[in-house]
Amino acid sequence: MVEKVVSVNPRQFAVLGNPVQHSLSPIIHEQFARQFGHSIAYSRKLLQAESFAQYVREFFADGGGGLNVTVPFKALAHACADWLHESAEQAGAANTLVSGDNGIEAWNTDGAGFINDLVGRCKFTIAAKKILVLGAGGAAQGIVGPLLDSGPASVTVVNRTPSKAAQLIDRTALKYADVELRAMSLLELDTDGESFDLIINSTSLGLDGGSVKLPPNFAVGAFCYDLSYGATAAFAHWAKRCGAEGVADGLGMLVEQAALSYEVWFGVKPATKQVYQLLSEQLQGSD
Ligand code: NDP
Repeated sequence: MVEKVVSVNPRQFAVLGNPVQHSLSPIIHEQFARQFGHSIAYSRKLLQAESFAQYVREFFADGGGGLNVTVPFKALAHACADWLHESAEQAGAANTLVSGDNGIEAWNTDGAGFINDLVGRCKFTIAAKKILVLGAGGAAQGIVGPLLDSGPASVTVVNRTPSKAAQLIDRTALKYADVELRAMSLLELDTDGESFDLIINSTSLGLDGGSVKLPPNFAVGAFCYDLSYGATAAFAHWAKRCGAEGVADGLGMLVEQAALSYEVWFGVKPATKQVYQLLSEQLQGSD
């Protein structure tokens, strides 16, 4: 990408969500901006669904530099865009908005951010592996396509509401005819007879105090990746207790998806390692 001209006055950026006060995005993007000497002001904005589209239009009409979008507005961000990058089109959800030649442009950096962390930092090889995805919400929509692009043997999506898992698989099945794809409820999953190389938690069960409803020995031999992080990473904590082969929480993905958002806005990709370490230390200190 070509580096974009940045004005001397701080440009406005924000993350839109509900809830949003817990978001680490302002800290991450301020760290990135320092790497390049960019002047940015990045805030958290709590919104209601009814005011989302209008807020986005006004933000960019006022010269705002870029927006991140988190739970539960990623589908709305996709819907209100004038132009979709293929990452947002494939996911049916967007987490990054920018005003460009095509009007409001939407991207989804969750999937690529997840892959960068899983492969780059965790050193997990996806090719030919059996993968289980728990959850079928916006985050799962973002990661399933990029996972399939890496050539796994199979992807099984299990969701509390099975019809949403089926929709997710139906949307992707045509493009990935070589991969075994299944959607089911947790009750239909044969936890005695089946095993997986990689189990990904993309549910928000840790946010609402839910518990992992899998037998402990199911994690043994699997790499367990929880998209949640910090105190809400209930699945990662469960996997550690069960003796999983490897465990990661979603902090690395958070930093990686943010770096890709930054690249969409500024045309340069920040380094992520030190920012990850900084946040990791901060979260450990707050446990
Ligand atoms: P959504 O609200 O779109 O989806 C939530 C999903 O979790 C649905 O599949 C829902 O099932 C399921 N779920 C919720 N509560 C429970 C429960 N108690 N038991 C079982 N399943 C449950 O959220 P997102 O997909 O956008 O986000 C999911 C999680 O991933 C969040 O915790 C979010 O913070 C995290 N995330 C992390 C990122 C990172 O960079 N690390 C990026 C994006 C998300 P149902 O369909 O039945 O309601």
